Parts: sequence; C-alpha cells; structure tokens
Amino acid sequence: MSSVSNPIANETDEAELMKKLGLDSETYLLVDIGANLTNKKYARDLDGVIQRAKDSGVQKIMVTGTCVQSSQDSLRLTRLYPTTLYSTAGVHPHDAKTWTDETETFIRDLAANNSEVVAIGECGLDFNRNFSPPETQLEVFEKQVQIACDLKKPLFVHEREAHEDMVKILTKYSSRLPPTVIHCFTGTIDEAKKYIELGYYIGLTGFLWKDKSDNGVRKTLEEKVIPLDRLMVETDAPFMYPNTRANKLPEKVKKTLTDRSLSFLERYCTFQRNEPCSLPVTVEMVSAFLEAKPEDVALKTSFNALKVFGLT
Ligand SMILES: [Zn+2]
Repeated sequence: MSSVSNPIANETDEAELMKKLGLDSETYLLVDIGANLTNKKYARDLDGVIQRAKDSGVQKIMVTGTCVQSSQDSLRLTRLYPTTLYSTAGVHPHDAKTWTDETETFIRDLAANNSEVVAIGECGLDFNRNFSPPETQLEVFEKQVQIACDLKKPLFVHEREAHEDMVKILTKYSSRLPPTVIHCFTGTIDEAKKYIELGYYIGLTGFLWKDKSDNGVRKTLEEKVIPLDRLMVETDAPFMYPNTRANKLPEKVKKTLTDRSLSFLERYCTFQRNEPCSLPVTVEMVSAFLEAKPEDVALKTSFNALKVFGLT
C-alpha cells in the first residue's frame, strides 16, 4: 500500500495551485473558512465585501450557517457567487433549544442534496454563555455529529469552555468521524494538544490580538503545537476584528504586518463590522507568533481548506 500518495501539500502542488488561481507572488492565496456573510450588516454592499476580499487575496469564503434560516440563506449566497462562496449547514449551540425533528430533516437534506454545502455546522458546545441549556446542547450537537458521519461531510465545530464534553462526544464517533475543524479556537495549549492528537484541524481568527493568557492561543503557536498541515484561518466576520493597535500585541508582531494587509483592514474593517479582507492581517499575526513566513502559512492553510472541504 506504499504507493498511495500523501494528499498533504507539497511544493509542486502549491506552485500549481497559485498558477491555476492566477495569483502573483505579492498576493497571498487565502481561504476564509468562516464568515457570517448572511448577517444583515452586509445586506447593502455584499458585492463590495466580496470584491475587497478577492483583491486582498481571499479567493474563497465559506459562509457559516448557524440555524435553519442562515443555513438556507448561506446556500442561496453560494448560488450568487459560484466557486467563490461555499456554505455550511447546522445549528449553533446558542440555538440548540430551537432544534426539532424537522430541523434535523432540513439540515440533513440541505447538506445531502447540495454540493455547495461543504460542512455540517456551525455546531458544538458553548458552556460559557449557555444560551441553550447544556443538556440540550449536548443532545443537539451529537445529532449533528451523526449527520456529518452519515453524509461523510466535514464537521465545523464551535467550542467554548466545553473541551472535555466535546472530546467525549467526538471520540465516541472516532471510527467514522469525517475531518473535523475546531473553529475560532480560543482554548488552552493543553486543549490544542488534545485536539491535534485526536487528528482534528484548528481554525484561528483575529482573536489572537486580545489573548493575554500565558497558556492560550499565542503560547500554542509559539510552542508550535499546531502543525501547519492542521491549521486553517478564518475571520468569523463581522466578529473578531483583529485590533492590530492593541497595547498587548508585542512590537515584534506589529512590525511584521505589511502595509498592503493593513490597508485593507484600516480602510474597510471596524470593530462593528469585520470583513474577510482582514484575513491577511490575521495570517501575518499568526505567522509572527509561529515564527513562520506568512506566504507559507497562507499556502498551507489554504491547501488544507481546499483539501478538507473539497473546494473546487
Ligand atoms: Zn463559533
């Protein structure tokens, strides 16, 4: 069986990919694996938002579904911007209390019958805010894990202060679990280690600027806990604005941010409304903590996203 080739990125694949997408070496090739573009904050100028994303290097965006309505709306958006937008279908833990048998049928059918729906989620556990009772969250999350397993579609997971229960549910399905991404990871270094050990991918956002813990995401990157072939990046727009002016952000990180990336952030993004075009800044921040080249982080994370979610 040694002739089976490794699907993970190698130099030739990456060069080939750049050529296909017609990108020059100045621009990063990026995939934003999570943007809430159905949010009403984008209702007036979505065309501009997507154009700016592309100009900044973000070639593909996965639009997050968080409930029945937004899963449906996300799919509709993919029809307006084919091969640029993709969507997910799922129910966020905050909305777990709205789950019914009809919800299950709806999510299952939407994902099964539309190739643009590339993942099940955003689903998971959020014991930080508990907008839905924890028992309901556990039950509704497990149902969505089952859908992902049945349909063999990747799982797009949200987890806040629920690491142990998350691991318990996911490992219960380990024999048939599809590729799983822990999106917008904000946990500890030990939690990251566990997720990596279990084979999951980690999605990082602009959250990095405000992490001030001594065992959090920054430390996780500095200690190189997440291998580049397990990392993905996302904006979680309109949330998670990367505040590059924060006092807590080390000078060495600020210094690596390029004028090109900062110009998109400063011209178009605010705390109230982040946009996918801020992703280059986040990639540069991640790279600074990793002590890696941003071009490498861009290529590797994009390659992972294209491969895992089958974006064409
Ligand atoms: Zn989330």
